[in-house]
Amino acid sequence: MRKLLSFLFCFFLLNLHAQKPEKLNAAEIFQEIKKLNFLGSVLYIGAHPDDENTRLISYFSNEKNARTAYLSLTRGDGGQNLIGPELREQLGLIRTQELLAARRIDGGEQFFTRANDFGYSKTPEETLEIWNKEKVLSDVVWIIRNFKPDVIINRFDHRTPGTTHGHHTSSAILSLEAFEAAANPNKFTEQLEFAETHQTKRAYFNTSPWFYGGQEAFEEANKNQFVSFDTGVYFPLLGLSNPEISSLSRSQHQSQGFGSTGSRGSQMEYLEPIKGDTIRSQNVFKGIDTSWSKLEGGVEIGEILTQVEENYNFKNPAASLPKLVEAYKLIRELPNEHWREVKTKEIKNIIYSSSGLFLEAVANQASATARDSVQINLEAINRSDFSITLSSVELSPNNAKINPEIKLENNENWQNEITLKVPENTAYTTPYWLKEAANNGMYKVEDQQLRGLPETPILTKSLFNLDFNGVTLSFEKPIVYKYNDPVLGETYQPFEIIPEVSLSFEDEMIIFENDEPKNISVKLTSGKANVKGEVSLSAGEGWIIEPKNHTFQLQQKGSNTNLSFEVIPPKDQNETFIIPTSIIDGREFSEELISIDYPHIPKQNLVVPSKLKVARLEIEKKGELIGYIEGAGDVVPESLEQIGYRVNKLNAETISRSSLQKYDAVVLGIRALNTVEALKYKQQILFDYVENGGNLIVQYNTNRGLVTENISPLPLELSRDRVTYETAEVRFLAENHPVLNSPNKISKKDFDNWVQERGLYFPDSWSEDFTPILSMHDKNETPKNGSLLVAKYGEGYFIYTGLSFFRQFPAGVPGAYRLFANMISIGKE
Ligand SMILES: [Zn+2]
Repeated sequence: MRKLLSFLFCFFLLNLHAQKPEKLNAAEIFQEIKKLNFLGSVLYIGAHPDDENTRLISYFSNEKNARTAYLSLTRGDGGQNLIGPELREQLGLIRTQELLAARRIDGGEQFFTRANDFGYSKTPEETLEIWNKEKVLSDVVWIIRNFKPDVIINRFDHRTPGTTHGHHTSSAILSLEAFEAAANPNKFTEQLEFAETHQTKRAYFNTSPWFYGGQEAFEEANKNQFVSFDTGVYFPLLGLSNPEISSLSRSQHQSQGFGSTGSRGSQMEYLEPIKGDTIRSQNVFKGIDTSWSKLEGGVEIGEILTQVEENYNFKNPAASLPKLVEAYKLIRELPNEHWREVKTKEIKNIIYSSSGLFLEAVANQASATARDSVQINLEAINRSDFSITLSSVELSPNNAKINPEIKLENNENWQNEITLKVPENTAYTTPYWLKEAANNGMYKVEDQQLRGLPETPILTKSLFNLDFNGVTLSFEKPIVYKYNDPVLGETYQPFEIIPEVSLSFEDEMIIFENDEPKNISVKLTSGKANVKGEVSLSAGEGWIIEPKNHTFQLQQKGSNTNLSFEVIPPKDQNETFIIPTSIIDGREFSEELISIDYPHIPKQNLVVPSKLKVARLEIEKKGELIGYIEGAGDVVPESLEQIGYRVNKLNAETISRSSLQKYDAVVLGIRALNTVEALKYKQQILFDYVENGGNLIVQYNTNRGLVTENISPLPLELSRDRVTYETAEVRFLAENHPVLNSPNKISKKDFDNWVQERGLYFPDSWSEDFTPILSMHDKNETPKNGSLLVAKYGEGYFIYTGLSFFRQFPAGVPGAYRLFANMISIGKE
């Protein structure tokens, strides 16, 4: 049992979801042969996608030929998204794929833990309180026990909590704890059924000028104890410098806007030894045997493969095949299971590429549902003179098999068809860590074998069994879908298993600002042809939904229909989820299929429970028309419309004194003063609007990178003060202030169920004209009183708030709506 599972772990790490099949050229095959002859490994550890130093990963992979991996504790769910609307889990999925795309370029592998990127955290104590520390540590240990690194490199310093994101410091702390625990047979014993303990030789901290506050300070620092080396090497075989590869890799973080331009020439890196036999050699593998001879049965393999490397023929890589197949046979006999499986995978890839093999299983449709039959077109070709016979092809998951037993003659294409019958209970194609709802800081993954993996192992695949002159080699290929795009040409997609019907709502959340009923539509999209059934909605107590159900019929796969229900809210303030259920042929469906498709990553499918948050608010408001100047992007305008305001989005460049007069309030979107250039010279118009009786509400801006210093008509200074605990107690400093009393009486209850954080970048000093309304703080910190500041200015009001309304609104937090309505209403009869 253990053997098989360990094999799977290795296999799936390397067999990434299909986009275009990898076809190595002669130079790349040679690179892979050099890697085959190096038996050493490096694990780089950070907290987020984009923390990793791609220069170093590429250097170890391409210059040292080491097996190199990046362990990002989280998938970066808490970040921002510059390329589309996806946030949270969906953003985490995009960033997972961006890391995999980066690794395809720099040659590394990729791992994650179950830790969720829950947003900013000031200290490792706070981080490890929100994450389940034991579980994250267990995952790091698991990855070390499976990957078996000789060397671990931390991106962050474990000794300086509080100087960077708490996730960062935590990654370094956990790395060092795992360094020891992975070698300890008494730690995480449940893993030992599947993996052996592993002793990493040494660990380093990848220091840089950043950790010293700048280049100058770093140059003066004592670097005697550091390992340093030049990573600016040039690879003539690839026509690229290491920093150029690194930039191509880094530029895959498109959602984070990390496009990077490559450089050439020397590029020093510094490693500070922090654990293990802290050796001072410039070679991090010093004293570690990285040759074949370290393995029982390895000497002979090493001799054969040294010849392959030395005699490699760039004009005819197939000339190496006899030796490669001989080495393959010996590798399969290695008693060391770990290296046997790692090197099997590597040498198979080399044999595949050297023989110019192309094996593919293409579905005639992009997706299928359980019980569908799908035609799979098979193709096999050998572009070498080596004697290769195609013995058989098998499909998963239904084990359909054909046995052609045909010799693949040089450059003669073999094609065939086979039917995939998708079994009744085949799982949907969806990320394994999103199958169950996450709780706070952790994703739930019951299956130990799945933990650490970047993505879900592919279920729908083909296995080509080939005979290489008497030696059997099996190549597993995921079933893919491809089509010809008139503009882009040959386009690949993963083949996916989807539900028979997808149920979705247009909005994530709907507010009932009074007890008027609303019509809510559920959209049904069919996953196959000729679907008919019925659909109903359910909600919490007190909510009435009519009719009980609708019947529907969808003829074509992919067609959709909207069915409308009347939803009557309860009389009192109340929150619930509306859950749709469809019944087709006696089977229940309640999921939404979400597709994420960007050119730089493979298309992703996500099958999640469908639900719509609804909230009945007890809310009063004054004023009707709001002008909104968008900043970095938020859904505040749509949210204000939900509670009955009319919102006009304003172009800051064209605002004028007269055009603003009609608005009951003007609101600046988040980071508008960081992102809207026109506010450099239009601020005075906004201030004049206030002076003449208007009401200006400015949401948070970062204190660095402001387009203007002129952020307020009255003295006000921004700081980096933030309150990251969404449950931090809120005290009222100005209990009788209108903003807490009219038209809605705000109480402590209005600060219940906030999400992610209270707020950020609060001002820390302001003129006496401002009234600070609220006080709050994180643990062990002084009270922060700048989260909501209100000043009368001329005839109107100026309000500055770092409270994170932009996070609370989409989550349907009633108190946030009530308080914002008061901010808009202030000064109005
Ligand atoms: Zn980070």
